[in-house]
Formats: sequence, structure tokens, C-alpha cells
Amino acid sequence: MRYEMMFPYQIRAAIDENWPVVLPLGVLEYHGEHLAVGLDTLVVIKSVEILEKEIDLVLLPPFHYGAASYAVEPPERNGTLHVDADKLYPFAREMFKGLLRIGFRNIHFFVHHQTENFAAGMPTDLAFKFGASQAIFDFLQADRGEGWWGDSKMADYYSQQSTGSDPFNWIKGHPLMTSEIIAQFPFDHAAQGETSLLMALCPEGVEMERLDADKWYTKSAETASVALGEKGRDLILDHMRDVLGVK
Ligand SMILES: [Zn+2]
Repeated sequence: MRYEMMFPYQIRAAIDENWPVVLPLGVLEYHGEHLAVGLDTLVVIKSVEILEKEIDLVLLPPFHYGAASYAVEPPERNGTLHVDADKLYPFAREMFKGLLRIGFRNIHFFVHHQTENFAAGMPTDLAFKFGASQAIFDFLQADRGEGWWGDSKMADYYSQQSTGSDPFNWIKGHPLMTSEIIAQFPFDHAAQGETSLLMALCPEGVEMERLDADKWYTKSAETASVALGEKGRDLILDHMRDVLGVK
């Protein structure tokens, strides 16, 4: 369900049944002349929208305003909108704290921007990961008081880490494409992989006749196809079902 369309009784049911709550996270960034600037966020949104029809989940309004960087092209007349990660962090911290206050304990964000090495992290995902862990500390301290971790009720803390009852599992960040997916599907910027993915997930965001094949990073988009995009989409949906625990 779309969060903004939910009634309080539905929110209470989603909390009681521990539905996954999913934030599509991304940027607005120049993706060549042939692709919509919202690509990185759109591919997340469209994937989650497919899952939302299949399973019980809460789809939060997406956040497009990540730290795009101007590494690809300058913003003037090209469209990249960059917000620095040090401004994202306090926003993420407050937003996650608010979601915990509502009662959600199964929160996930998916991001597809500079995520080819997700374990190391890049500014957008690191700001949201940092915001998430700090929000959990803030919430626990306000809820349980100082010394909450040392309390005897936490004696099984280390053995609970993999099972989900560890509070630091309440919010998890995921790349849209894992290293296993990247081994089977091209990870690129505005080239064959991303162009194919948008063709499959959001065809109105692709105008192939505008492709500028002189730019090194868009050249392979010439070989993009809906079929390849559908392969990527299916790998992504499998990964999402897996991390949301609905497989
Ligand atoms: Zn992209």
C-alpha cells in the first residue's frame, strides 16, 4: 500500500503484522540525452510497485534528492540536482526516528546510485545508513533509557543479531543490484544496462532517437533492449523478495 493513502487502522494492521516498509531512495542526475533524469530512483520505484501488487508492504513516498554529484556533467541546463550528504544525514535520522515512533520495525531502503561497491558505501547511501543507526540509538535511549544495552534483558544480544530481534535490524539499506546481480547484468551509467532496465520498467523515460553515442559512458546504450531489461528486472525482484523475507 502507498503510505500516503493509508488510513490509521491500516497502519496499525501493518505494524501488528510487521509488514516491510520500503523507501525508494535515489537521485536526479543527468543520464545522457536519451534517458529521464530520475532514472536511478525510477527503477527502484517501479520495481517496488511490482512487488507491492504481490505482497503486503508499505511503500513510502520516494526520496529523489540524494547526493548525485556533478561527476558526470555540470548541472547547468543538464538537470542534475545535487544535495550534499551532510544535509541528507540529519533528514534521514529524523525521518527514520519518526518511522520508529509510529511503530514500524521492518524498514528498508533501496538505492541505485553509485552502489557498485555497496559495502564500502557512497555519500547518499552512507548518509541514510548513518541516519538509520543513529535514529535507532536515539529511539532506544528515549524509549528504554540509558543503560538499555547493559540491561539483563539484552543478554542474548549477540545470538539475536541474525534473527531480526536485534534493534539494529529494524532499518536496513540495500543496493538495487547486488554483486551477484552485477555478475549477470551490466552495471553502468546510462549505458546498455540502465537503458535496458528503464525500457522494461518505465518505457516513457527512454527516447532512443536522442542517444548521443559520442559520449563514452552512453555508447553501449545502442545495444540496449527490453529483453535484457526484463532479465535485470527479474533478478532485482528476486533479490527484493529475498531481503524482504517473502521468498
Ligand atoms: Zn544511474
